Amino acid sequence: MPRRLLILGSTGSIGTQAIDVVARSGGELEVVGLSAGRSWEPLVEQARALGVRRIALADPDAGARAAEAWTDGEVLVGPQGLVELVVSSGADLVLNAIVGSAGLGPTVATLGEGIDLALANKESLVVGGELVTALAEATGARLIPVDSEHTALHQLMAGLPVGAVERLVITASGGPFRGRSRAELAGVTVEEALRHPTWSMGGKITIDSATLMNKGLEVMEAHHLFGTPYERIDVVVHPQSIVHGLVDLVDGASLAHLGHPDMRIPIAYALHHPEAAPLPTRRLRLEEVGRLTFEPVDVDAFPCLRLAREAAVAGGTAPCVLNAANEVAVHAFLDGRLPFLGIPAVIEETLARLGTEPVRAFESLYEADRRARRAAADLVEARV
Ligand code: NDP
Ligand code: MG
Repeated sequence: MPRRLLILGSTGSIGTQAIDVVARSGGELEVVGLSAGRSWEPLVEQARALGVRRIALADPDAGARAAEAWTDGEVLVGPQGLVELVVSSGADLVLNAIVGSAGLGPTVATLGEGIDLALANKESLVVGGELVTALAEATGARLIPVDSEHTALHQLMAGLPVGAVERLVITASGGPFRGRSRAELAGVTVEEALRHPTWSMGGKITIDSATLMNKGLEVMEAHHLFGTPYERIDVVVHPQSIVHGLVDLVDGASLAHLGHPDMRIPIAYALHHPEAAPLPTRRLRLEEVGRLTFEPVDVDAFPCLRLAREAAVAGGTAPCVLNAANEVAVHAFLDGRLPFLGIPAVIEETLARLGTEPVRAFESLYEADRRARRAAADLVEARV
């Protein structure tokens, strides 16, 4: 029997690579549903190609157009439609490859139903880490990361004795602006920021990689996935993106996970887990690579990592506020409404204004997300 897979965010960078992984699975994976934000035409095309009968679009207008153009199945609409798709799809596994905190609702719906979750949407864990992991524990659903560093750590830690791990290290390519000072970052353009040296990804995460906010989000992701305290999770810059993660053991040995950067590896790992499947990716030959280099993070030039760590340690709604402000600031930068250095400035000021509050239920998070978006949008507005 094939594993029935629902792909949320199927039109994106992770989503389309996941469809490639499915095509190479020899029938072990079967797609039973697809969703997108508003790109209804590519979504309908995917549904036709894969013989899928149920799709969802977060944007109501796009949903209406899809329903007109595609009459071979059901089109669910709006954020509620995405949740309905999760609940009604009969999936054994959901891949959440939505970008941003819009992914939280579907993450909660998936785990709440006791369905296993392959999670690329790291924002779900940043925003709602404690509640999300508690929900998975309560229903017994498995939570498997789809992120190169976390896949590395997940794989390295499988089978280690309890108490063996001393420290986790995730690597950062350093992004397109590695080595620049803060002053040299003032005038960088959107085009330069989108030119990632080693990975080809969606726009938002590519900017997060340029500011290093991505590593801040990933430190929180690691904390929630593995239950490791923040002071035992480190980041090191590694421009070649060959080593993805490192686990330091209590006896002084370290385990590393290596491979050429290709997201199909983490995607296939999560979709086939606990089995393994072959992939025709470029093989690692160390003598061809020659040299691997490592350097510390320049936190003065890239304050987003410090802001993320501070919000993480503050806890409560602070990570949710940080994430929402970051989403607003990144979109404003991509639209040319905010300079690159305005991104950390807007985030820091939003955090200062809103502070942190305890999280009692998911509703506290949705409310903090809305308030932070409003505050950050006002700050962007005030700067222009
Ligand atoms: P993309 O921007 O390429 O794709 C995002 C997907 O989410 C698209 O299908 C998009 O639909 C959909 N979407 C956008 N907004 C909404 C919304 N409000 N509601 C529902 N669906 C929406 O992103 P990526 O694939 O790069 O990233 C997805 C997630 O995976 C992110 O959380 C990212 O951090 C994480 N990730 C990505 C990696 C990568 O290599 N790309 C690596 C590690 C993690 P539409 O096409 O209509 O806009
Ligand atoms: Mg990553």
